[in-house]
Amino acid sequence: MTQIDRLRALGLFDSRVPRYTSYPTAPVFTPQSGTGFQTQALAALDPAEPVSVYIHIPFCERLCWFCACRTQGTQTLSPVESYLGTLERELDLVRRVLPDGVRMGRMHWGGGTPTILPPEMIHRLAGAVKAVIPPADGWEFSVEIDPTMVDRAKIAALAGEGMNRASIGIQDFDPLVQAAIGRIQPYDVTRDCVEDLRDAGIASLNADLVYGLPHQDEARISATVDQVLRLAPDRVALFGYAHVPWVSKRQKLIDEAALPGDMARYRLSELAATRFRDAGYAAIGIDHFARPGDGLERAARSGRLRRNFQGYTDDTCGTLIGLGASSISRFAEGYVQNAPATAAYAQRIEAGQLAGTKGHVMSADDRLRGRAIEMLMCDFRLDRRELRARFGSLSATLDPTTALIEERFGDLVTLTDDALTILRDGHAVARIIASSYDAHVPEGVRYSRAT
Ligand code: SF4
Repeated sequence: MTQIDRLRALGLFDSRVPRYTSYPTAPVFTPQSGTGFQTQALAALDPAEPVSVYIHIPFCERLCWFCACRTQGTQTLSPVESYLGTLERELDLVRRVLPDGVRMGRMHWGGGTPTILPPEMIHRLAGAVKAVIPPADGWEFSVEIDPTMVDRAKIAALAGEGMNRASIGIQDFDPLVQAAIGRIQPYDVTRDCVEDLRDAGIASLNADLVYGLPHQDEARISATVDQVLRLAPDRVALFGYAHVPWVSKRQKLIDEAALPGDMARYRLSELAATRFRDAGYAAIGIDHFARPGDGLERAARSGRLRRNFQGYTDDTCGTLIGLGASSISRFAEGYVQNAPATAAYAQRIEAGQLAGTKGHVMSADDRLRGRAIEMLMCDFRLDRRELRARFGSLSATLDPTTALIEERFGDLVTLTDDALTILRDGHAVARIIASSYDAHVPEGVRYSRAT
């Protein structure tokens, strides 16, 4: 049996498992009555511990067919301006319950298209956040950048507010692939954007790529990797295209017949990964790459790599405050998700209520399983000693599952009393292995495929 056949037999091409940017995953969250949990969690924050802040901007000028993000198309700024006002009111509600002195260690603007905001709105939003949660020394401010929706004035405004990390959406540079996913973005436009970001002093750049797109083949993805290497990003995220038209109606515009098959898709991911490794990037977790010395690479080397809603991170803040429609906050006690639809979110805020409508209170078992899954997703290694030290006898509840993993995944893992380690050949099924520890399998939810 070849290695591919072995992985196929283990469900590589059939399994639909979460990406585990949280545990439990968002589909498990249950409706919340009232905002008591969110209010208490915010009020209980320790001002000595910096927090992360995420702001969701759910607007795009174009709606790319492949994208499953929560966003809406707009050709005018009027809904964006109105949303900005709602964000300011949400911040005011947060200010009323937050203890004095809480500082921001990180801020991330995602979407949607944060760079749809013109310079004056960038300053207004950044100023509103900083007035409620001032930045801590050495804070990081990252923004998702759409190269077709940004100019020097917007970059200057973001840099002026402290942006020091930019994440550039690329996906694929091939014109045929771009046309097939409804996202035209010439290489020259992206290159100019990268130059403008560097000229503005943005030291750290991330490039987002996607494999498994329609018409992608080895020559096309290889050419895209060549072009990306010329841009010399510090980090690369290489996500598998998740074809979930039952979740994202836009994806019905994608020609399914042009999607690469199982084997082709796997080869695309392996080819791109090999090219980045050969170019000197360190492989980080299941789908990221980073230059030696980059914060993500250092975190991976020293066992400090973590998962959050953006994927892999070296963020050490224990609390994430999510603002805006659909944003998720993470507290020591559990998760809270704001109303997903922009109108419902705005209605809550206008009624003077925090916008959390769903959530999950973490049990000790959730914390144990969440850490186990995070270890496998980040380090390909379940450190049983760490779990015993942290969770005591509760950690033994994982042992039957660990034994089953050894039985099922045999030569792809090694098991000792200290650790369960996924070997290099098994990295492609790390998500499937990690999902063995998931005790919350929501009914009726269909995740994207494991590779
Ligand atoms: S890829 Fe970006 S620009 Fe395109 S629809 Fe998604 S969020 Fe909007």
